[in-house]
Amino acid sequence: MPEFEVTPWEVTGIVDYNKLIKEFGTTPLTDDLLEKTRELTKSDLPLYFKRKFFFSHRDYDLVLKDYEAGKGFFLYTGRGPSGPMHIGHIIPFFATKWLQDNFGVNLYVQITDDEKFLFKPKLTLEETKRWAYENILDIIAVGFDPDKTFIFQDTEFTKIYEMAIPIAKKVTYSMAKAVFGFNDQSKVGMIFYPAIQAAPTFFEEKRSLIPAAIDQDPYWRIQRDFAESLGYYKAAALHSKFVPGLLGLGGKMSASKPETAIYLTDNPEEAGKKIWKYALTGGRATAKEQREKGGEPDKCVVFKWLEIFFEPDDKKLLERYNACKSGEILCGQCKRYLIEKVQNFLKEHQEKREKARDLVERFKYTGKL
Ligand code: SF4
Repeated sequence: MPEFEVTPWEVTGIVDYNKLIKEFGTTPLTDDLLEKTRELTKSDLPLYFKRKFFFSHRDYDLVLKDYEAGKGFFLYTGRGPSGPMHIGHIIPFFATKWLQDNFGVNLYVQITDDEKFLFKPKLTLEETKRWAYENILDIIAVGFDPDKTFIFQDTEFTKIYEMAIPIAKKVTYSMAKAVFGFNDQSKVGMIFYPAIQAAPTFFEEKRSLIPAAIDQDPYWRIQRDFAESLGYYKAAALHSKFVPGLLGLGGKMSASKPETAIYLTDNPEEAGKKIWKYALTGGRATAKEQREKGGEPDKCVVFKWLEIFFEPDDKKLLERYNACKSGEILCGQCKRYLIEKVQNFLKEHQEKREKARDLVERFKYTGKL
C-alpha cells in the first residue's frame, strides 16, 4: 500500500510533497521565483506564497517572463459544483485574487456543472446547476474585480463547444484514459469532457496560469500534450498543497465528510462547535504531560489551519509554535483562538456572499470582452 496517493478524485495518506513533485514531474516553486514575483508586483507576498502553501509549478517562470516582456498572461481556474464549498476550496481563490490584483490580469472561472453531472452518478443536472449558483456566490464573495473576472457555466456557455471540438480532434482516447482511468462502463460524455476543460486555456492569445491544488495537475498534462500543435501556449500552473480536514493531517478536507470540513455557509456558532469537537491537535494525553513535554505543532491541524490561512502575522505564528513546543500553552487556548478567527471569517464571507446575489449577472461571461 503506498504511503500516500494523489489523484484528481482522491487524496489519501500524509502527502510527501517533495516526492509528489518528482512523481508528477513538476518544478518546485523556488525563493527566486517568489522574489521575482515580489519585484514585478512591487507588493509583499501573501502568506500562501511566503509560507509555501503554493509549492510547485509548471512554466510559472515563463509566465513571469511574458509579463515582464509586456505580453501579459491570464488566469484560469474553476469549480466543480457538486455541493457546498468549504474553506479548503476557497483558499486557492484568495491566492488567485492576489495574483489578479497585483498583476492586473483577466481571470476566467469555469463552473463545470456538466462534468459533475457526468462523473457523479447520483447527481441530477438540476442539482449541479443549483450548486453552480451557490458556488458562484462564494467565488464572487472573495472580491474579484468585476471588470476583469469572467465566470461561466459550461451548460450555459455553449460557445465552449465550438472551442472544444478542435481539441477533441487532438486528444486520443489513450491520452484521456491515462488521466481518467476510463473503463468499459465509462460514459461517452466523460471521455469528451477533457476537451471542454482544456478550452478556456485558449480564451486569450497569451499564456494561461492556473492556480489550483496539485491534485488537478493531471488535467493540464493533457492540455500540455497538444496545445502547441494547435498553435496555443501550454497551460502554466501554480500548485497548492491541500488544506487538511479537521480529523488529521492525512488526506484533505472533504465535502462529502461533513465532520472534516467547515463549509462557507456553516453557521459560525456550529462551525466553532465542530472545530472544538473534531479538530485533531498535536497535544499530549494530559495537561500535565503537555506542560512537561510540550505539544507537537507539526502534527496539529489547528496549527496547520493557522499557518495556511488564519494567522497572517508571522511573528505571532512563530511565537505560538515555540510556546506549543515548550509546553507554555495548551490546546484549548489554540482551539479558542482558531475558532474566533474562523467565525470572524465566516461572518464576513457570508455578508459578502449575500451581496454577491446582485452581482452574478455582472460576472457572467458571454464570450465578449
Ligand atoms: Fe496544536 Fe496549539 Fe495544541 Fe500545540 S498547543 S498541539 S499548536 S493546538
